[in-house]
Amino acid sequence: MTDPSNRKPSLATRVAQALHFVEEETGAVVPGIQPAATYARDENYDIRKPYWYRRDGSQTTAHAEAVIAELEGAKESLLFASGMSAATAVIESLPTGAHVVAPEVMYHGVKMQLHAYEANGRITLSSYTAGNLDELAGAVQPGKTQLVWAETPNNPNWEVTDIQAASDIAHGAGAKLITDCTGTPPNITRALDFGADISFHSATKYLGGHSDVTAGVLSVRETGGEGGFWEQIALIRKLQGTVLQSFDAWLLVRGMRTLFLRVEKASANAIAIAKHFEGHPALEAVLYPGLPSDPGHEVAKRQTTGLFGGMMSIIVKGSEQTAIDVCRFTEVFYPATSLGGVESLIEHRKTVSGEGFPVHPRLLRLSIGIEDADDLIYDLEQALARAGGEGSA
Ligand SMILES: *Cc1c(COP(=O)(O)O)cnc(C)c1O
Repeated sequence: MTDPSNRKPSLATRVAQALHFVEEETGAVVPGIQPAATYARDENYDIRKPYWYRRDGSQTTAHAEAVIAELEGAKESLLFASGMSAATAVIESLPTGAHVVAPEVMYHGVKMQLHAYEANGRITLSSYTAGNLDELAGAVQPGKTQLVWAETPNNPNWEVTDIQAASDIAHGAGAKLITDCTGTPPNITRALDFGADISFHSATKYLGGHSDVTAGVLSVRETGGEGGFWEQIALIRKLQGTVLQSFDAWLLVRGMRTLFLRVEKASANAIAIAKHFEGHPALEAVLYPGLPSDPGHEVAKRQTTGLFGGMMSIIVKGSEQTAIDVCRFTEVFYPATSLGGVESLIEHRKTVSGEGFPVHPRLLRLSIGIEDADDLIYDLEQALARAGGEGSA
């Protein structure tokens, strides 16, 4: 038998217990919420470190950051008020004229922000087809590219990018790799372990898990020391006031306690749904890396724990209106944007991302929740039948 004193509880246990939290004064197993905007100095008029003003963080936010850093295997994590404010801080931290390489099709908000910085002359931008490493290798400019953005699995077609290979390409050109693995949270994909320099997640999604908080997080293996990029990003957060607020951080810690359970159930539901609808007569395609037939399956298997998360898309047959009608007719799935919550969502992605984003007009993005899989399958079946029936009538 191994020496029990050397036995470290598993990551699942540590996260379920929010790092075995116990409040020192009371023994409470749940933390309080520290909402203070300011902190009094001590008797020598010195700042009582580490907190002094809310815009620089609070212990509630720091607790959530510690849980995420543990999940990511990160040296440090920084929480922001949204995924977009975290992504923006990274772009903002780049020197003027920096060259950035990002997928042609990706989460539309981040792409809009990259285009806005490009239009202002702050950065130059090249793109590659998501998951296509040859195109990525061709798009980086050695010595000039500072940041490679990879989203995997990639919205809304769920192409998989080999993170290790992408990081080799980025590093070969002297660039940093940032990964957006919002679709596969760090309990199933730890991007830093595969060479990513910055792991980005919209914590609004799986980490929070209950559609009741917006948050974004950046995590790093190396902070780059004084005056480095990480210090710059932290400074941007402080000066822009985009730190996650305490109440939201508290909700996030509460949500993360069930992360492993939720993602396990959502992944099991998703594979059942994908298998049921693969080859379905009302569908042209099911896009889900968990399907053995999916082109990204082998890479996805290598960089996940064997769970593939709950994100998939279906392309329906018929017209664009047929696709919109499916969203109108579901009764269990909510016709809503976002993803990664306990409730299943369906979305006509083209309507949401708007003109200018090359999204298939008949693509529906599904975020599979933790409900009963049969209820979800039945719901999609009836909505597809109704939409198809009315379309052909
Ligand atoms: C939601 C999302 C974002 C943006 O995060 P917010 O929390 O909504 O600001 C970025 N990337 C992906 C993949 C997302 O799903």
